[in-house]
Amino acid sequence: MKNNLHLSSEVIFNSGITRGVIIDTIRRELFYIDNSFIRILELIEKDSNESFEKMVKLVPLPELHKFFDFLVENELAFYSKGPGEFKRIDTSWEIPLEVINGIIDIDTDFSFYEKALSEFEKVDCRELQIRLFSDLDLTEFQKLVTIINQYEFHYVEIHLVKNSYIPEEEIRRVIENVWFVTNILIYGSEDNKIVRVINDTGDYFQISLGTISYLKQSLKQNGCGSISQHTFTWSKDNIRENISHNSCLNGKISVDRSGYIKNCPSMAKNFGNIASVSFRDVLNNNEFRGLWLINKDKINICKFCEYRKICTDCRAYLDNPDDIYSKPLKCGYDPFTARWEDWSTNPLKLKAMSVYGLV
Ligand code: SF4
Ligand code: SF4
Repeated sequence: MKNNLHLSSEVIFNSGITRGVIIDTIRRELFYIDNSFIRILELIEKDSNESFEKMVKLVPLPELHKFFDFLVENELAFYSKGPGEFKRIDTSWEIPLEVINGIIDIDTDFSFYEKALSEFEKVDCRELQIRLFSDLDLTEFQKLVTIINQYEFHYVEIHLVKNSYIPEEEIRRVIENVWFVTNILIYGSEDNKIVRVINDTGDYFQISLGTISYLKQSLKQNGCGSISQHTFTWSKDNIRENISHNSCLNGKISVDRSGYIKNCPSMAKNFGNIASVSFRDVLNNNEFRGLWLINKDKINICKFCEYRKICTDCRAYLDNPDDIYSKPLKCGYDPFTARWEDWSTNPLKLKAMSVYGLV
């Protein structure tokens, strides 16, 4: 009787239409299994007296032992001498914040920037992404930084288009002087590279203040939302959030380049202009908040996918632009064949791509 086998606390599993997957959240490894073993994992997790009897009804004994060995060898499970009290990963999600993160897009009109920052502060938003699409000169850039330095955020990243007016020392200085600006991304760079900004006092200890990320790709409004195995999330908090909420839009509020308040700047639907509407009004709107609750179990195709607990999402670019429950356009995975393909060359996506100006 193997009723003293326990799943490791950091392991989760999920079934898909063609196969199941065991996710080791610490080692960031995936193990593919037949779906029949998902039921076995559920029984191991349940750890009741009848579990083993139920298991042998589902899978022949030699196969079952082989599966137990596979789990133990890969440190996905372990034996204990007694039943024990072993804590499994907690999949409930709760956070004492209404707004978790936000995006401000700025092009040539900066007039609403300060108002937007004060709205973010009023709703206690801690994490902000600022995307600057135009070629700013040094004075404009310094002015934007001076304004943001009057606020208190926990994490701010700035996305910039590379130009010759803002020298690298200036970008470095922003990370050194504004403690919550911890990542500046420069698009249109010659190479892809990441440079760490260190507080080098000459002492033994060096403190990393942030990073400058140089990216060859250009900064485009419709460049966001790509999904691949590289965008999977492994953090337990994010996985917990994914299970019950939308992995991109939950707790997000954004201002587009014309000052319109949206779930995400790339979405067509707006909830009024920041010049006359407060974030509070928008947060009280059920239509706005409804998108926060679209988890992968509600999304067509994704609900059959074994990756759905760790996959990110995008509601701005959809396979069917008229259906908010449609699969993300920029995902090339088909859970029915268990194969990844280049989504951008899929002829079935052409119509949606032309709607979004991606062709
Ligand atoms: S909804 Fe899509 S485009 Fe918008 S922020 Fe999320 S991933 Fe990006
Ligand atoms: S089908 Fe859905 S859940 Fe699966 S990888 Fe693509 S976007 Fe993620």
